[in-house]
Amino acid sequence: MPRTLDPEIRRALAARIRYYNEMGIYDFYRRPVSVHTEEVAAPIAVDEKEIAVSINPEPGEEMSPRKSTAVAMPVAIEVDENIFEAIALKPEQSVSDPVKALKIIREDLGDCTRCVLHKQGRKQIVFGVGNPTAELMFVGEGPGADEDAKGEPFVGRAGQLLNNMIKAMGIEREQVYIANIVKCRPPGNRQPERDECATCSPFLMRQIAVVKPKVIVALGATAAKTLLAMNASMIQLRGRFYDFRPTGVRSNDPNWDGCKLAVTYHPAFLLRDPRQKGEAWKDLQMVMKELGLKAPTKVPREQTDG
Ligand code: URA
Repeated sequence: MPRTLDPEIRRALAARIRYYNEMGIYDFYRRPVSVHTEEVAAPIAVDEKEIAVSINPEPGEEMSPRKSTAVAMPVAIEVDENIFEAIALKPEQSVSDPVKALKIIREDLGDCTRCVLHKQGRKQIVFGVGNPTAELMFVGEGPGADEDAKGEPFVGRAGQLLNNMIKAMGIEREQVYIANIVKCRPPGNRQPERDECATCSPFLMRQIAVVKPKVIVALGATAAKTLLAMNASMIQLRGRFYDFRPTGVRSNDPNWDGCKLAVTYHPAFLLRDPRQKGEAWKDLQMVMKELGLKAPTKVPREQTDG
């Protein structure tokens, strides 16, 4: 029988969860409770360290059953079923207009200093661009020099090829939404580090939950591995759809419960190895079939060229 949580404990728990949210951790696991009635009724002594350990197991790790004397966390979670949900609600989830919702996320991001990329030469944050209700979303790795200068993803050479790939699918760039795993240019166009991806990607997850695409195309290994939270080669990742739900955030639309995700080669890789364009085209055709898109009858040669 749920009981009201002691306000002090609730505050401590809420502060701790907010702290984890700010670090990009949204998933908390609930340990099956197997405590005896008299232990549940005992005074609850919550130690902050205890909460931290309890709510943040390693990904995929099962919570091990605790000794019966450690009753604090099972009781705390058992008494208020909705506490995590209430706290995990994002400000944009209270607005239905996706343009406003994306604006709220952008404002929340602010002049971000959450990871080292902010002090490694970025000119500006590259948030994302396109149709806020797009059925199709492309996610790249991170801005390059051109994107950093313009504040828009995929506007350089790789962007030109992406535009051509989009056109070859029978649609326009303006119809899709385009974003990156990290929103600041990594110096020298190096790959973003794992911690940079982990810090930045919660904002992308929120963008996805607002746009509610039917299909996401992850461009390259960094995007694929971060979005799918799995470590595999491009060969292993391509050629199939994944069921995708943005981590740590729910859409405010009960009819949108995630989307499909496909992986293809990054346009910058295709510029370096054009022989792989045929493989990328197979990936895009799989996506087109899913979306009911038909390629224009004749794709002008220059549209598939970098
Ligand atoms: N490469 C990316 O991954 N993203 C961009 O926006 C540009 C190049």
